[in-house]
Amino acid sequence: MWFDACARDLPWRHTRDPYAIWVSEAMLQQTRAAVVVEYYRRFIEEFPDLPSLARASEDAVLAAWSGLGYYRRARSLHESARAVMAEYQGRVPSTAAELSRLPGVGVYTAAAVASIAFGERIAAVDGNVERVLTRYLGHEPVPGAARSGQLRLDAMRLVDPKRPGDFNQAMMELGATVCLPKVPMCLRCPVHAGCRTRGAHPAAPARRMLSRKISLALVQRKDWPKSELLLELRPPDAPQMPGMWELPEVKQGREISDSQLLTIRHSITNTNYYVTVYGLHASDHKGLVPAAGERKWVPLVELHNRPLTGLARKILKRLKVMPGYSGAGPSIMIGDVVRDAEKEFESAIFGN
Ligand code: SF4
Repeated sequence: MWFDACARDLPWRHTRDPYAIWVSEAMLQQTRAAVVVEYYRRFIEEFPDLPSLARASEDAVLAAWSGLGYYRRARSLHESARAVMAEYQGRVPSTAAELSRLPGVGVYTAAAVASIAFGERIAAVDGNVERVLTRYLGHEPVPGAARSGQLRLDAMRLVDPKRPGDFNQAMMELGATVCLPKVPMCLRCPVHAGCRTRGAHPAAPARRMLSRKISLALVQRKDWPKSELLLELRPPDAPQMPGMWELPEVKQGREISDSQLLTIRHSITNTNYYVTVYGLHASDHKGLVPAAGERKWVPLVELHNRPLTGLARKILKRLKVMPGYSGAGPSIMIGDVVRDAEKEFESAIFGN
């Protein structure tokens, strides 16, 4: 089987533990496997089994997920872990039908977990698999929702009854590594001989990205013996990342160029944010950084335990304010940040 010889070596492919497979499938939605690997390892290290996840606070779960985006996945996983403890005595349900009744578990995740962990003969059809099947069967490309019911039936007919989990993973792997959205690599494709389109399928239309400029403030104070950073909580009803902590925004028109630390680009769904970060001492920030929500002074050594937005985490790592970037420790004051940031500046401008 092509999958046995060519599949990438990914940590969740070395386990049959339904909980670990479930975590990996939740993380892999909307996110590439290469990005997920480190998050998966850290998450499983921190919450090695379902009871440990169910016992954890939401803040601890969001902190472990921080940077991966689409935080609704983390909340649903957490809520579902608690439901499994309460309703299934801690045993992950073994059928797609039962799994899909858990909070936030969709048809795809239920089928993926049931087939990979329990061997249920059911097809898991995500965006990658949809693309492979559409091309392989020669369907007209139409928006996902209109086609997915038919494609699921097609996939059910094709699924290997002896190795349904491996079949589903092979289809996902094919979509992620060979049958690529823009340029499918048909000459390397194991199903080339039977494919109706063989690369003649039109490329998926490029998603139109919006642009937005924002300015954020790194406000730091020394409250001996600790250094603290001012963070702001996103409101619980915010459409994106509710309940996550972020750097406060600088009042429009009040940017101060000589305290500029960093300029980066950050993408969230269909928007590219062009972000300028200014360094301010606690005594200077009032009037420049009006409060838009609940605020807190957080010791630098505690930053890694906070559920930070991906953008906040990226900025703090790049400025070496929190560990995870070239091994720097969390003890740098703004003057030092400026000097370090100058070195980083060129490579950081509009880079990810
Ligand atoms: S032959 Fe090409 S278009 Fe067909 S499934 Fe393989 S990679 Fe995709």
